[in-house]
This record gives sequence, C-alpha cells and structure tokens, in this order.
Amino acid sequence: FSSRELCQAALERIEHLDGELNSFITVIAEQALANADAADRARDAGNAGPLAGLPLALKDIFCTQGVRTSCGSKMLDDFASPYDATVVEKLRQAGAVNIGKTNMDEFAMGSSNENSFYGPVKNPWDLSAVPGGSSGGSAAAVAAGLVPAALGTDTGGSIRQPAAFCGITGLKPTYGRVSRYGMVAYASSLDQGGPLARTAADCALLLETIAGHDVRDSTSVARVVPDYTAELETSLSGLKIGLPKEYFGDGLDPEVETAVREAIKVYESLGAKVCEVSLPHTHLAIPAYYVIAPAEASSNLSRYDGVRFGHRCDDPTDLEDLYKRTRAEGFGEEVKRRILIGTHTLSEGFFDAYYLKAQQVRRLIRQDFLDAFDEVDVLMGPTAPTPAFDLGAQKDPVSMYLQDIYTIAVNLAGIPGISVPAGFAGNRPVGLQVLAPHFAEAQLLGVAHQFQ
Ligand code: GLN
Repeated sequence: FSSRELCQAALERIEHLDGELNSFITVIAEQALANADAADRARDAGNAGPLAGLPLALKDIFCTQGVRTSCGSKMLDDFASPYDATVVEKLRQAGAVNIGKTNMDEFAMGSSNENSFYGPVKNPWDLSAVPGGSSGGSAAAVAAGLVPAALGTDTGGSIRQPAAFCGITGLKPTYGRVSRYGMVAYASSLDQGGPLARTAADCALLLETIAGHDVRDSTSVARVVPDYTAELETSLSGLKIGLPKEYFGDGLDPEVETAVREAIKVYESLGAKVCEVSLPHTHLAIPAYYVIAPAEASSNLSRYDGVRFGHRCDDPTDLEDLYKRTRAEGFGEEVKRRILIGTHTLSEGFFDAYYLKAQQVRRLIRQDFLDAFDEVDVLMGPTAPTPAFDLGAQKDPVSMYLQDIYTIAVNLAGIPGISVPAGFAGNRPVGLQVLAPHFAEAQLLGVAHQFQ
C-alpha cells in the first residue's frame, strides 16, 4: 500500500461511520493526504521513518500547530495552537500521518465521554453504550477500524478504561516516561500520555516513538528508552502474578470477574504463578484523587480567563465581568464542579485537612504498590468494575467517579498499567488490567503480547 491509499481508506471510513460514532472533533483530510504523499516520497527515496505513512489520530488534548485543539471544551473551540506537542513532533518525525483530533470529555474530566462540548461518542460494539472516557474518541476510532492507533491521556484511567470498554489495548506509561509538553494540563502530577491500539505490539511501536526525556518538560525522566518491540517475546515461565484482593470485591460485575479470571488461567497455563496480594489503602484512592486532581485542575484552568486565548464573552463591562462571564459560558458543568472543589480544598483553613491529608494518603497508596512488587512481578485484575454502561445511565457524579476504582490508584503511585482485551460480558468487551513497577513498560507489553 502507499500511504496515500492507507490514509484515503481511513478518511473514507471516517466519512461513512463517524457521523454516528462522533469519535472525531476535527478531521484534517487535506493536510493528512499531503503528509501521506510526503511519506510515500520519503519511502521511495529510501529514508522512511519507522512509522512512515501510518495514519493516526490524536486525542484533542495534544497541541497541533495551526489545527484546532479544543480539549472537548467550548472554551477552546476556536483555539489553534501555535506549536506542536513534543509527542506530535516525534510522531511526525517517525513518519506518522495525523488524520485528526478525537473527541474527549471536557478537559479530560470524565469516564464516559458524555462531558464533551461536541456531544457524546458511541461505543462501536453497541451504539447504546458509552465508549468510556476521557479518551473515548481515541478508543472508539481504533475499535471501529477508523485508524490503526491513536494517542490518549490517562490521569485516573482515561486510556485504560476506554480501551477496556472498546475491546482494544491501551497503555498508561510511568509518570515521566512521555513528555507532557503541549498536552493540555488537567492534573499535572497525574497526567500521562500513551497509546491506544489493537495490540500490545502496536502500542510498543508507538511508545518507543513517543517516550523519552524532553528538556521542555522538567518532569520527564532522562532514562534510556528500551526497544519495546524487541522485548515483546518474554517468557511467562515463572512470572509471579499478584491478584490484589481489593480488586475482586464488592461491586465487581460477575461476568467481568469471570472473563478476567479466565484470562488469568491462560497465564497460569503458560507457566505463570498466581497468588493473592493486598493493596490495603485501595479504598482511599478515589477520595485522595478527588482532592488532588480538582486542586491541580483549579490551578491549571485559571489560565482560561478570556484574555489571552480561547472563548471571550461579548461586551464585558470590566475585567471582573470578563472573567466571570467568560468562564461561566466557556466551561461545562463537570469542569465547574471540579474547579469549585479544587478552589475550596486549596483555600486557607481547609488546606491541611484536605490537600495535605490527600498527599499523605497518596504516599501510602504508592507504598502499597512498592510492597506488592517486593513479592510479585506484575499485578492483574479487572480494568473497570463493569462493562461499558448505557449512554445516560450514570446520573450522579459520585457513581461515575466510582468507575475508576481500579485505575485511579495507579496514577497516584505513578506506575504503568495496561488494559488488554479479555473477552466479553454479553456483547460488551471486558479489559484485563496488568500493572508493573515504575518504568517496567517492556514487561507489561511483553506480558500483554503473550496473551494476544
Ligand atoms: N475519570 C477520571 C476523572 O474524571 C479520570 C479521567 C482521566 O484519566 N483523565 O477525573
């Protein structure tokens, strides 16, 4: 195939199917075809990059020069970034062709993609179900075969949970593995970009392209990027798998549990040893996250003030009126809720009781994982407690927050995690989550690959 043919096929599929799915916010057909032609020329000249001509999609949280980066918000509906995110630059240098920007929960706040200014995304397996969130557009686009792979971001589960709901593979790398430069900030100490694709092998290819130290992100880590593809063929013989008992308790859908336990049996049959472990502070992960993430969000989102970029209200009477009306009009309900929570917990008199306490709990949660990894190589469990739920089914915010029970602690600890397709509950996919120590992505990808 030429890259032009590949990209044309992707664009045609988007044209036919995405009216219904709504997985893209922006499709950049002309620019993509021009870049595809450039990739074809580079290939003819014998200097093609490792991803030459591959059509990809980016969650609309990654800045793309001259192309709208909306973050799923009315606030940034007319914002075109003046520069590319580091990961976007790296993908381009490898020869990949960006086809467009995918739908997402506004500012990555959500677990169902129902919080987007551009409307909800539908799950390609069942159009009455959500695709998960917040990277729901990326997950649905890959699952529907619109593009072979996409990038997402994960602050509390937003790569892994939509990957699980859409029956694909999604990897959240270690915090610091992938540059956050040019990735719109939600909760900076938790956010991490990563790949969503059909297989772990495809995720490996993407991760080795986007990972690495970046002088423009002081939290990115200067550590050699392994050849993840070369390390996919690991042996499972003697691999120690821990099953956190807290991840198989109340609230876990029985069909999800069955699919996950079946997958773990396959690992046992391939020579792995399974034992139970405990992550005793699991019940504190959601409360700690919903103090820390909104606190960071309230600070990060203070930049949307109607002055420098994004939405601005009409005819402000003075500066205060400009701020108030711009933010009242530009942000959706969930984003406003988080800003209010964050502003409250950071305010004088509440800081010690909430923010400081949550940071102490975060430390305990991290220690739970470090202790578990003294005993076992990887942890396994369900990615989410239920399969994809129906659009409109989760009515109150707290029941939505509880969706992230198995994914959120991973971000608080900074470790990597992957969701691997593990079967079905009815007609809806189930994800197996695999967790490993900091910077053990090669092991995670290898373990996932052996199952595929
Ligand atoms: N669902 C979680 C939230 O709403 C996590 C989102 C994410 O990982 N970006 O904050």
